[in-house]
Amino acid sequence: MTLSSRVQGVPPSATFKWSALSKKPGVINLSIGRPNYDTPEIIKEAAKKALDEGKVHYAPSKGIPELREKIAGKLSTENKIGGIDADKVLVSGGAKNILYLLFQTLVDGGDVVALPDPAWVSYEPMVTLAGGKVDWLALKPAEGFVADEDYLNALENSKAKVTLINSPCNPTGAFWPRDVQEKIVDICERKGMWIISDEVYEYFAYDGEPWSPGEVYEKTITVNAFSKSFSMTGWRLGYGACPDQSVIDAMNRLQQHSLSNATTFAQWGALACFTEEARNKSEEMVSDFKNRRDVCMKAVEGIEGVVCKKPGGAFYLFPNFGDVDDTALAEKLVENGVGTIPGSAFGKVGRGCLRISYGSASAGELATAFTKIRGVVENE
Ligand code: PMP
Ligand code: GLU
Repeated sequence: MTLSSRVQGVPPSATFKWSALSKKPGVINLSIGRPNYDTPEIIKEAAKKALDEGKVHYAPSKGIPELREKIAGKLSTENKIGGIDADKVLVSGGAKNILYLLFQTLVDGGDVVALPDPAWVSYEPMVTLAGGKVDWLALKPAEGFVADEDYLNALENSKAKVTLINSPCNPTGAFWPRDVQEKIVDICERKGMWIISDEVYEYFAYDGEPWSPGEVYEKTITVNAFSKSFSMTGWRLGYGACPDQSVIDAMNRLQQHSLSNATTFAQWGALACFTEEARNKSEEMVSDFKNRRDVCMKAVEGIEGVVCKKPGGAFYLFPNFGDVDDTALAEKLVENGVGTIPGSAFGKVGRGCLRISYGSASAGELATAFTKIRGVVENE
């Protein structure tokens, strides 16, 4: 079978590849990015009730109106984004599916998308599949991967139609404060550039308030999901919203010809995410994660020659180990009982780095893992 040239160019996802490699007995898995918490009971109960009530049929392709109303309310009050109502919200199979539909909707053949380097592994294949090209804007380990003057100048000089902000960030954990994001908005406003704001780690912000560029800039598509905030990665539920309804309607047309709708009873379950009980559970998890971040930072600072500024959010560390082959280092670490992801999987700037997820390990496992990492790195 000759596969389409389009699909031949698609690389496997490094997150799934390294997660599979790390699933050997005795390996502490710090590869995949997911919280190791159960979904709060109140959400599971709501989904079970929906199943019992026979909510097993197709739903409206945009998502059930009850859930879209709640999402629109959250974006308006919590994120202060203007002009969003339920018609301007699309619910899909995870933030990943939303982003896929979004790049298909915004990007024409030859269009340029400016992405931070490093960035999450799936953005580039999605841009390429839409016929677009990526303009990589370099970040720096020494700046903790927060956009600096050089980054802003590169964006200013970019021919991109769209750029992307992902704060808190996968893979670096970097938190871009409001003033930094506002500088990006200023540039985009002058150039007429659209912003995709990937806010899936919104609640995992440890040292400052998260901020949505959609509060001040209409040409923003806000992307979020229940996956991380409520530990629902397997439920596959995410959403996108934009004050320009034509963007959401176009994504919805693509959804009608691909997914149809996000799983119906899962959507009824997700309604319970908007209860105080679910939010409290989420906050408990986040405060545990902040503690894990601090445990990891202490451990990583003890490793010779490493550059790793304290990340302000998400559940990743992205230490730079200097002039090392990060893929060989990750392979050696798996052999020694620790699964990570080589930094170069996330972009050129990631060379010499490892992505370490503290989402799926206890503080004790993290301490053991870092002792092993230190042993391997210092013996290189
Ligand atoms: N964006 C970022 C930055 C991510 O790390 C992920 C991975 N979960 C996604 C989007 C996709 O999220 P979901 O699991 O909701 O599809
Ligand atoms: N986002 C998670 C990660 O980066 C899950 C895997 C994926 O979606 O790529 O590990």
